[in-house]
Amino acid sequence: MSKIVRPEDSVLRRFLLLELFAGLWVTLKHQFRPHVTQEYPRERPELRPRFRGVPRLRDHPGAEGPLCVACNQCALACPDHCITVVAEDRKGGKGKQPKSFHIDYERCCHCGLCVDACPTKPITAIYMSHDYEMAQYARDDFMTDLRGLYEGHVPREYKR
Ligand code: SF4
Ligand code: SF4
Repeated sequence: MSKIVRPEDSVLRRFLLLELFAGLWVTLKHQFRPHVTQEYPRERPELRPRFRGVPRLRDHPGAEGPLCVACNQCALACPDHCITVVAEDRKGGKGKQPKSFHIDYERCCHCGLCVDACPTKPITAIYMSHDYEMAQYARDDFMTDLRGLYEGHVPREYKR
């Protein structure tokens, strides 16, 4: 019984390096077609409204003083234990306000559970911002205090 020689095993194909040229042809074909992938960071992504960057704090003009009431619900809901809130008496009113508020962005997994737990009305005091380019040289720089949570980090755009 004669042995069946599959085309890819044939000496002729190997000798003429046909597979190599077939592969090169695929590369060449795609070289001149429009790209379907985004050339980040040269091309900036268009963020969707519900994009979840790092969590930050905000106020509301309808609220007297800070919108955050330092209830600690966000810290309790956080699965990564990266939120630390220290409360103090609210200045000129009843209730509490944050004396200090820290989020360790290095540990944050952007799950949004802290926002779900926040009870403030008409908007949540903590929200998922669109900040996402957060590379730092030192680990401590990921620890973000009240000021950083309100004003945001200086954007660190990645360059080519
Ligand atoms: S987004 Fe998730 S991980 Fe990040 S601070 Fe909020 S609850 Fe914690
Ligand atoms: S951000 Fe919201 S949940 Fe967190 S301490 Fe302030 S009011 Fe409470």
